[in-house]
Amino acid sequence: MILKGGWIVQDYRRNIRDGAVVIEDNRIVDVGPTDEILRRHGGSGHDIIDLDGKIVIPGIVNSHTHISMTLLRGYADDLLLQEWLEKYIWPYESLLTGADIELGAILGAIESIASGVTNVCSMYHYHSDRNEATALLKVGLRGTIGIAIFTWDPEGSLRNFRDAVERYHGRDGLIRIASCPHAPYTVDPELWKNSEDLRLELNSRYGDMGRIIVTSHIAEDWREVDIVRERFNVEVPDGSIMKYLEGLGVVSSDFLAAHGIHLNEVDIEVMKRYDVKVAHNPVANMKLGMGYADTPRLLDSGIKVSLGTDGPASNNTLDMVETMKFAALINKPIKRDPRVTPANIVFRMATEYGAINLGYNDLGRIEPGYLADLTIIDFNKPHLTPVYDVYSHLVYACRSSDVDTVIVNGRIIYESKEFVDINVYEVMDKVRRRSMELYEKVREVRGG
Ligand SMILES: [Zn+2]
Repeated sequence: MILKGGWIVQDYRRNIRDGAVVIEDNRIVDVGPTDEILRRHGGSGHDIIDLDGKIVIPGIVNSHTHISMTLLRGYADDLLLQEWLEKYIWPYESLLTGADIELGAILGAIESIASGVTNVCSMYHYHSDRNEATALLKVGLRGTIGIAIFTWDPEGSLRNFRDAVERYHGRDGLIRIASCPHAPYTVDPELWKNSEDLRLELNSRYGDMGRIIVTSHIAEDWREVDIVRERFNVEVPDGSIMKYLEGLGVVSSDFLAAHGIHLNEVDIEVMKRYDVKVAHNPVANMKLGMGYADTPRLLDSGIKVSLGTDGPASNNTLDMVETMKFAALINKPIKRDPRVTPANIVFRMATEYGAINLGYNDLGRIEPGYLADLTIIDFNKPHLTPVYDVYSHLVYACRSSDVDTVIVNGRIIYESKEFVDINVYEVMDKVRRRSMELYEKVREVRGG
């Protein structure tokens, strides 16, 4: 397939105003000015798609979310994190079946794609036959599925992780599995070490189908260090959760830390030394009143910061276009400096860094040899006219509803704002019905 006559944004600094991209199977094989590409590939039997001046970007990567939680969207808002989790979220989640998790994730995948996302890192509870991975396979979205590991079920957690890798890692060239110790305060030191041993073992057997990374909620709550000390009766040296984890031997360059709000100098030093990555979730952090990640400081330290929405129960959408704008804005008033997190760097966080942080070295840019995950955006809109700087529009002016077409792994799954083989209305209907049943049940469980 050749996409021609569009504005090709290859990465955060290279773009071609009248460009074309050649895709064969699931890979990008060539990119360049339209006339050159047509000269090189014009007569070779490709399907030629005219972009009519639309913008082509590398697919957006949502590097931290819980897509099944669409079921819980708007169910409990404006509460303190621990109360929100313990009194509202966890009782609701205890009722969810595998079919529910799959259904919620199908809706989450649909919402993601329609807003230009081609790759999600989503962590959630796991059931063998129906889960977030089966949902992504049904919809055709790429994803890294984090298998939640909790101290209240150590054996079950590790069994799930192994089962998920054996069943789904590498499936259809779309799915990767990740180890997901939920947080330092919900996973005891012993279980964390055991999960890391298992991850290394599974990587040695299945790593050639893609790196099995580890991702966890880190320094989201300012009380995290105290809770860990109290709950597990352990030392947290220098008040640094990363130094504590380093002491357990579980820190590596495969480590993606979600949030990273309450990090001290020692944490950052450990992260630099191991090339730990950070997934920044500005909207959910603000909504839960958790604070804000100092992304300029992390980026200046050479730490790769990607972007995430977090779950739709704490955001309350999976809108990564909106997240780009918040990520660009959140630190400017705090630093009293509009130069921090400029538009093209935020774009890089949402694309290239997202892919790298999920363990890919052939994704996140429009480059020969890279995987063909592309998002096509229609700039022919009043709020996107005129155009001086394509990155400025992508971050500050664009809306997710401007997304026109989405290609994942070389396949068009969303075209001219329509899903190619998913009935969206049917999915929404099922979610509406099932969420009302669950709501009745959870009210009984919680005592009215
Ligand atoms: Zn989260």
